[in-house]
Order: sequence, then C-alpha cells, then structure tokens
Amino acid sequence: MRVAVFNSKDYDKESLGAYRGEHEFVFFRPALDEHSVAMARGFDAVCCFVNDDVGTAVVEALAELGVKLIAMRCAGYNNVDLEAAKARGITVCRVPEYSPHTVAEHAVALIMDLNRNIHRAFNRIRENDYSLQGLQGFEIHGKTVGVIGTGIIGSTFANLMSGFGCRILGYDPGQNERFAKIGDYVELDKLLNESDIVSLHCPLLPATRHIVNADSINKMKDGVMIINTSRGALVDTPAVIDALKTGKVGWLGLDVYEDEAGLFFEDNSNRILTDDVLARLLTFPNVVITGHQAFFSREALKTIADTTIANVEAFAEQRLEEKNTVSV
Ligand code: NAD
Repeated sequence: MRVAVFNSKDYDKESLGAYRGEHEFVFFRPALDEHSVAMARGFDAVCCFVNDDVGTAVVEALAELGVKLIAMRCAGYNNVDLEAAKARGITVCRVPEYSPHTVAEHAVALIMDLNRNIHRAFNRIRENDYSLQGLQGFEIHGKTVGVIGTGIIGSTFANLMSGFGCRILGYDPGQNERFAKIGDYVELDKLLNESDIVSLHCPLLPATRHIVNADSINKMKDGVMIINTSRGALVDTPAVIDALKTGKVGWLGLDVYEDEAGLFFEDNSNRILTDDVLARLLTFPNVVITGHQAFFSREALKTIADTTIANVEAFAEQRLEEKNTVSV
C-alpha cells in the first residue's frame, strides 16, 4: 500500500519514517483539505491528524481518487465525515489508545503550573524580579476535582489527582469500574457545583460541544479552575472570557482551542495574530495555553507510529481489528 501522510512534521517522519516494511509512507507538509486532496492521487491510503479536514467534500474526492483507507494517527475522529466514508466504502481507522498517561500528565502539568503561577514566576525571574506579590498559590491536596469523561485518559487523570489527596467526582453517561474505584459518579450539575477543578476528558460530539458554556459556568464554584486537554470546541471560549473577566473562572488551562486549526502546530511568530478571541485569552495572567501538545511524548509518538503501521498492515491483509476502526 502507498500511504500519503498529510500534515507531517519532522517528528512524524522520524517515527513513521523509520518503518522498513513492504508498505510505503510518503510525507506531505500540507494539511489535508479540499485544496491538497489532489496530492492523494496514486495512493491507497491517507494518514491524517487532528486538524486535517476530512469532511464530506474531501472524503468524496478521496473516493474519486481510489483511496480505500483513512488512517488517523490520533484517537479523535471528529474531523472525519464517517457517513460519507461509509457511503463511499472507505475504511477509517485510528489509534484508540496511546499512553493515556501522556495526556493525563499534561492536564496535571497545567493544573500545577496555574495553581503556583509557575509561568509568571519563570518570566519574572528572567527579568531579575524575585518579588512574590501576586504569585500566591493554593494546595491541590483536599480539593474536589470533577472529571467530565471518565474513559481511558479521564480515569488515568483521576488516579493521578487522587494521589494528591483530592476528592474525585466523575460524570460520564457510560460509567466504568476503573473510575468507580477512584472516584464517585455524580450528575453533571453536582460535579459543576462542587468541583474546585473541572477537567474535560470527553470526546467532541454534538452532545458535548460547548459543554462548558455560560450556563454550566454559572453552576460552577466561584474561582473554579477549568482544564481542557480534550477538544477545543468543548468550551465556548467567549463565555469563558466573560467569566474570567468577572473572576467567576479563576484559572484556565487549555491545550486545545476551538479555532486552533491552521494556527496550532505551526510557527506563526512572524504573522499577525488575527484571532481576537485567542488574543484576549492571552492577556489573562491566570490562563495558560499550550498548542495541542498533550499527546507529544516520546512514548506516545512511538505507540502512535507502531499502531498506525499495524493498522495499515492489517488493512492490507484484511484483518483490521474492530477496536481500531471507527464507523457510523
Ligand atoms: P475514551 O473514549 O476512552 O473516553 C471518553 C469518555 O467520554 C468515555 O468514557 C465516554 O463514555 C465519555 N463521554 C461520551 N459522551 C460524554 C458526555 N456527553 N459527557 C461526559 N462524558 C462523555 O477516550 P480517551 O482516550 O480517554 O480520550 C478522551 C479525549 O481526549 C479524546 O476524545 C480526545 O478528544 C482527547 N485527546 C486529546 C489529546 C491531546 O493531545 N490534547 C490526545 C489524545 C486524546
């Protein structure tokens, strides 16, 4: 099989490019979209990432080009039109699980950075400013942490936070035993009412889009910390900005942002930032944003490459595992 790897970075070439088997991975810098899809001509499969546009028009174009497999090198697939893929007989596979510790630890890193103002201390000390005014933090121990989405990453995160001595609450329409051993399942409103920290670990679905909005923020504790390492559109960003202005939201840690496509994963330092919402977010001292790097560990990249290669091999041999495929 010939696989066109879209949106590829040097680290993708290092991991996937190390493959020395019978299939061929060809790396393309552009993201997959309606303009770049023509590059898939002559390929049997495309390999895509979180911000590639694999919507209806692109899937139709891939089908016309004879592409048979969309191999996502990530867990999420909210950017793929699964109905269109099914209708055109294209298989969609993904990496359902790659070191949940990688993402869960990043969520903890955002919490620990925010609560002790490490990002501000870093800047101050570089300016020879050793004053402490404004850097006061709070203990994580004894706080209530609400986990929305208690799947593989959510329960790994819950386990880490329980190690700090936190009380753990979880909300998930599909409950599991792993989380139940660590925390208490509650209704969403109770979680919002009682949590000092709310961390999002559910997928982006119609039901979860803007799960953090003006209404749900109103139900949260004053000064709540919100952490999102899942998908940007889980959060209604203008609503959070309003709540940051009043102090209702005390801390915000984001690894993902609703309009990150075309911005994240790239060096835009020579360009003018035209996204006024993001620009406003960047003005708050109590907001920390990372550019979708929660997945970015040595261990996770290796697992992502190994599973993607195994998916391509299995598809070619018609033995692709159901757990690695996504369908409607
Ligand atoms: P998972 O499928 O194991 O867990 C997701 C959980 O969310 C499931 O238990 C599911 O029942 C639950 N859920 C579904 N609908 C919900 C709702 N309406 N409210 C609350 N919970 C709901 O997935 P995972 O591997 O734990 O990944 C979680 C998310 O993390 C992914 O969907 C992906 O968007 C995100 N992610 C981000 C990065 C990153 O680099 N920032 C990396 C990997 C994954």
